[in-house]
Amino acid sequence: MSTIAVKAYGTQAAEKPLDQMGINRREVTPHDVEIDILYCGVCHSDLHTARNEWHFTMYPCVPGHEIVGRVVKVGNHVSKFKIGDIVGVGCMVDSCRECEYCKEDLEQFCEKGNIQTYNGPDKFLGAHTFGGYSEKVVVDEHFVLRIPDNLDPAAAAPLLCAGITTYSPLRHWNIGPGKKVGIVGIGGLGHMGIKIAKAMGAHVVAFTTSESKFAEAKRLGADEVVLSKDEKQMAAFAGKLHFVLDAVSAQHDINAYLNLLRVDGSLALVGAPEHPLPVAAFSVIMGRKSFAGSMIGGIAETQEMLDFCGEHNIVSDIEMIDIRQINEAYERLLKSDVKYRFVIDMATLKA
Ligand code: NAP
Ligand code: ZN
Ligand code: ZN
Repeated sequence: MSTIAVKAYGTQAAEKPLDQMGINRREVTPHDVEIDILYCGVCHSDLHTARNEWHFTMYPCVPGHEIVGRVVKVGNHVSKFKIGDIVGVGCMVDSCRECEYCKEDLEQFCEKGNIQTYNGPDKFLGAHTFGGYSEKVVVDEHFVLRIPDNLDPAAAAPLLCAGITTYSPLRHWNIGPGKKVGIVGIGGLGHMGIKIAKAMGAHVVAFTTSESKFAEAKRLGADEVVLSKDEKQMAAFAGKLHFVLDAVSAQHDINAYLNLLRVDGSLALVGAPEHPLPVAAFSVIMGRKSFAGSMIGGIAETQEMLDFCGEHNIVSDIEMIDIRQINEAYERLLKSDVKYRFVIDMATLKA
């Protein structure tokens, strides 16, 4: 199969920094869209994967699954997109399209396994897929999203993962007016969770370990803010919340949040720390509580989320970086020192 050589940024091993490298993309096949990448958000999953914290990284690894770019070429059967369109690609680039879940627009749960944008099996070129820290990506049009015209393309990039990963569970657990929702961990995912839950009409309580975010979480849309290290502040919310969305990337006490749920309340984990989180039996027995999880969202729901964000003028609060600052950005991500999402200006890769 003919390929295009493109510049990328990635790493050869868990303990090595990211650096410039060359990769290949396939030439468009009939259903493919070729995209020049303009911006790519930096998700904590990029860091978990680059450093092999989930123990299944294939190297070399080029992360990046919050991609916004411009269509520069389309295959002859492409109907949804044309050259010049501003489009997005999120965490998946393929799935079987035939199983029960694919047919229900739940490609993320494909029985054969969805093909992740990076670190997934590449059925066209062999080996594995490479993500958005690169000049170009070639993707089947089914997995390409329309970015609403009124949204700033750089600030919309994080919607492709952080946006859908918070929108999907909030929809699934019917969040809306009359519901009190806790959002835990005000990073890339958490700050989107606040904005989206608020736009859905919920009463939003933000839980943060960072004093500097305490002061400004209300600006993001939170009705109340809790410094989670303060036991008194936590105790005031015991048994008060209908739903908790936990977007923390590291070890923390999940029982402290299960304790905040009302009877029949649910806590959905979207954060994916490296090690297991112990759950005390009585944290869920008392109050018939549910401890659940959620993974990104299907393609139709991702488009629904983008359209919802377009209607409500919701984008991410971003800090734009040069690709050469990516290793430093990872260190800052580990210190919860970003407000609230790094986005790489991909023009800096070509410079
Ligand atoms: P992020 O920007 O680094 O945010 C994580 C937040 O967690 C931090 O800002 C911090 O919030 C809090 N935190 C960090 N360390 C903590 C600790 N030791 N104790 C308590 N709180 C801590 O990361 P992200 O990109 O939003 O991703 C969050 C997690 O979701 C990652 O594990 C990522 O892999 C995962 N993820 C899952 C899915 C999915 O489909 N389920 C999709 C994308 C990402 P405060 O400063 O407010 O305390
Ligand atoms: Zn992500
Ligand atoms: Zn499938």
